[in-house]
Amino acid sequence: MTGQKTINQPEGKEIQIIYIEDDAGLARLLQKQLHRRGGYNVGIAIDGEQGLRKLQQQHFDLAIVDYNLPILNGLQLLRILRDNGIDVPVIILTGVGTEEIAAAVMKAGAADYLVKDADGGHIEKICEAIARVWQQRQKQGQQKLVFAKRKLAEKVFDVTEEGIVVTDANCVIQAVNPAFTTITGYSYEEAVGNNPSILKSDRQDDQYYGRMWSSINQSGSWEGEIWNRRKTGEVYPQWLAINAIQDKNGKASEYIGIFSDISIRKANEEKIWHQANYDSLTGLPNRALLVDRAGEALHRAKREKTSLAILFVDLDRFKYINDHYGHAAGDELLIEVGRRIASALRDSDTVIRLSGDEFIVLMPVIQHAVDAGRVAEKIIAAISEPFMISDNKTYVSASVGIAVFPGDGDDVGVLLSHADMAMYKAKEGGRNQHLFYDQQMNEQAEKKAVIEHELQRAIREGQLEMYYQPVTNLQLNRITHAEALIRWNHPEKGLVMPDDFIPVAEESGLIIQLGEWVIDAVCKQLLAWKHQVDESLQLSLNVSPTQMMHANLDRQLQAAITRFAAPAGSIIIEITENVLIEGPDKIKLKLDAMKAMGLSFLIDDFGTGFSSMRYLKKLPFDGLKIDRSFVSDVDTDNEKAVLVRAMIEMAHNLDLKVVAEGVETEAELAFLHDHDCDYVQGYLLGRPMPAEQFLEILQRQQ
Ligand code: C2E
Ligand code: MG
Ligand code: MG
Repeated sequence: MTGQKTINQPEGKEIQIIYIEDDAGLARLLQKQLHRRGGYNVGIAIDGEQGLRKLQQQHFDLAIVDYNLPILNGLQLLRILRDNGIDVPVIILTGVGTEEIAAAVMKAGAADYLVKDADGGHIEKICEAIARVWQQRQKQGQQKLVFAKRKLAEKVFDVTEEGIVVTDANCVIQAVNPAFTTITGYSYEEAVGNNPSILKSDRQDDQYYGRMWSSINQSGSWEGEIWNRRKTGEVYPQWLAINAIQDKNGKASEYIGIFSDISIRKANEEKIWHQANYDSLTGLPNRALLVDRAGEALHRAKREKTSLAILFVDLDRFKYINDHYGHAAGDELLIEVGRRIASALRDSDTVIRLSGDEFIVLMPVIQHAVDAGRVAEKIIAAISEPFMISDNKTYVSASVGIAVFPGDGDDVGVLLSHADMAMYKAKEGGRNQHLFYDQQMNEQAEKKAVIEHELQRAIREGQLEMYYQPVTNLQLNRITHAEALIRWNHPEKGLVMPDDFIPVAEESGLIIQLGEWVIDAVCKQLLAWKHQVDESLQLSLNVSPTQMMHANLDRQLQAAITRFAAPAGSIIIEITENVLIEGPDKIKLKLDAMKAMGLSFLIDDFGTGFSSMRYLKKLPFDGLKIDRSFVSDVDTDNEKAVLVRAMIEMAHNLDLKVVAEGVETEAELAFLHDHDCDYVQGYLLGRPMPAEQFLEILQRQQ
């Protein structure tokens, strides 16, 4: 048996044994023997007291104790160990064993009792005893564990917040836990003996339960959300997991259902969903829900080959209401508008607030496009009724754009953008009306996008150039200044005129960047000509209304003037009358600031737009340019002649200089000369031309 392991010890761990024996020879013999077998580490104590001390200081897996010891005998030691809670299995050895001693030590808790053999054969017996005691000890440990686990399971069963129900194979409830009672309202006594169908709600059909049971039968479990009914009758959602417990033959012997009440969680989820999908002001669905619903409707329309319409509704004067009556009033109005739109619709239609004063109507099924037009008119009529805002009767109107599936697109995003485009056109066309999308709108939009893209590149790659058109002082009969006009040397299209790209630049906002380029170019030109032309030469540059309203204009001008050392007095700014729409006060501040820099101002295209003598007087203009339409044929058209004369007279009364644009004939020129016009500009005197060419003309004049 030597060298053979008889004891199961944990992997890699030696069993720690203490041998308390006053016969030193015997002690060492056992120590050596066990050492040789491997797996044991044996410590020795030579009397009871020393043994006790070691046991108190250090952990031992097992103690072998000689009964007859000096100071404390085996029995006494055993009792002290038990009294001190030192739980080590003890094997008692005696030289001469008596029944009484054996009974006493076993009663005191010894794990085993052995009588020494005179011939030393007891070593083998001790080893066997160790093995036996060790195994027993381990078994006890496992039992303790099983017991502890069961205790724990019971506790969990009692205190967990999840309801637990145990049924037998026939689905008769055997046990429920306290949480079951809390959630369902049924007590233990009411539940046990019943079928779980007492909990059933009618939210799920038989098919649902069928699928549940086939899953349990096939895989032994099922998990999912289910609506059940409390004892009070209230229906609530729960998350339920059912597991089948199988007997030895693989048949279900019990079912355990574990569930949690998820009604609060679901309510929270619903609240969050509502917040994400509805507009907080009007309570109408928002963009997120629109995308969902329109997507569904589109899907159905495709499947069933029906038509649907998307209406883009935008209020016409909302900004005015907001500015005039305040945001609270604006909000009130939006709520009412939402209500009015909804009242113009069928139940199956949906109204959505997209943002600000934009609403979308989804008509998931229409017979014909005219149906959508009729609804649009109903909406426009409803909105044009007076609103009571802060006790004031107020009027607003709406513009509506309509896109119809399948004609105008087969994707929610495309239909929306087409309806938007149509709405925009409806606004452009005079507001308070509806318009159907048509292909042309898209082509226009695409063309614009291409120009915008190419124009950005043009700025970067130097495809832009300033042309200069001479302006002649009639009194001096000399060219005293020039209007700077932009040209685009397009790599494929050749020379592109400003009317083909300035409006796009205005709409896209690119005009700011473009305008900065123009300002720089003109200042740079002044620097380049510094020593070649008369000091008094002035260059005028055009500033569009968007540029004018942009906060940066004066900074851009100042920066260019500084950078190119351009005299501010040489720069004239041309602005059209339309900027005055923004209100004279705003413009005045800007003009005054720039005037202080030394710049001059002309009103461009005078007579075509929004003119008011009152404004002209208030604002620091230096002159006006009579629009080409009045100048052309002024010598033969009596009506124009009267107008032009009046304009000149009025301007002079206000101390303003007059420039006549678009002079093409000698007769026109003569008329203007005769009626005291100060300056003339037109093809007759010189077309817009590149800088070098203009310089030559100037030099010839000198
Ligand atoms: P505008 O400021 O009224 O410029 C005068 C326009 O009339 C110029 O057209 C010029 O070429 C044209 N013109 C001059 N004399 C005659 C004539 O005798 N007969 C005819 N039929 N036309 C004449 P252009 O250069 O095509 O510019 C058109 C408009 O584009 C300008 O009108 C101006 O509003 C705008 N624009 C031009 N350059 C710029 C610029 O650098 N910035 C901005 N923001 N707008 C510019
Ligand atoms: Mg101009
Ligand atoms: Mg003009």
